[in-house]
Amino acid sequence: MTVRIDMHSHFFPPVTQEEAARLDDQHAPWLALDAGGETGLIMTGNRAFRPVTRPLWDPARRIEEMDQLGIDVQLMCATPVMFGYAYPAATVIDWSKRMNDRALELCSTAPDRLKVLAQVPLQDIELACAEASRAVAAGHHGVQIGNHVGPKDLDDDSLVQFLIHCANENIPVLVHPWDMMTDGRMKKWMLPWLVAMPAETQLSIVSLILSGAFERIPKSLRLCFAHGGGSFAFLLGRVDNAWRERDIVREDCPNLPSSYVDRFSVDSAVFDEGALRMLVDVIGPERVMLGSDYPFPLGEQQIGRLISDHVGLGEYAKDRMLGENARQFFDLPGIQAVAA
Ligand SMILES: [Zn+2]
Repeated sequence: MTVRIDMHSHFFPPVTQEEAARLDDQHAPWLALDAGGETGLIMTGNRAFRPVTRPLWDPARRIEEMDQLGIDVQLMCATPVMFGYAYPAATVIDWSKRMNDRALELCSTAPDRLKVLAQVPLQDIELACAEASRAVAAGHHGVQIGNHVGPKDLDDDSLVQFLIHCANENIPVLVHPWDMMTDGRMKKWMLPWLVAMPAETQLSIVSLILSGAFERIPKSLRLCFAHGGGSFAFLLGRVDNAWRERDIVREDCPNLPSSYVDRFSVDSAVFDEGALRMLVDVIGPERVMLGSDYPFPLGEQQIGRLISDHVGLGEYAKDRMLGENARQFFDLPGIQAVAA
């Protein structure tokens, strides 16, 4: 029986307003539960940030839903509003450690079914490297990072240094888009999530390629981008063409951009058979992993259905994407199919 591992899901621990205020009483995130406890709001200071549902903070409810959906293992990571990259690193290191320890507590309900990726204070690379190593030693299965720190994209020297640290320490890295580019033109209809998020991820991958960063980062780095790599796969031909035709595009990148697609993986959260087919064609069946973005409304609601019901993909590709790729990527050798 195929093991199903969902490697992209989020948690938010029941942080109180007082606890958040220790980081910042104006903007730090906390959870306001509704009466009955089935729903709530992530608040930032006194502002409602996002309506959320119980599986986000309740591991027992999460396991119930995983059983209903036939998901054996979920890797959880912080909801990006928790990153805290805008604060002084000395202030946020305590927060990062606390959120990482709270995440391990959530997993302790069902350690065989729930695994977690750590957050790090990415604005200070020394502290970020130390917290990544501490968290993995404490039981985390990798780190999740935002795709940029203010104006620093993933090709910034300090962020490349962090990726090299993770390669050297054998720590898997999930890159998640956040803090989406917007100058006021994307106010409505969740446009930052629909337009800017895929562009953020594309920007990260193309920056790593064209800056030549992949020439400096060890090939052993296990690196994955959320949401199928955003707009990357569909527009890779455009980047290759530009590299061939314009010297300023290739000045820091010695090889054809598409030759770097074997340096990273992506998740399967693309919501469309044609898009998944293309992703498998461009990135390869060994580098696409089931990832749902659970438990948010913009995630895959019937987790794994896009892969398992796909009419154009064979059993080998489906088995790889539903579980085998994540089992290897996150080093989970003993995982068994257990979901009902
Ligand atoms: Zn996500």
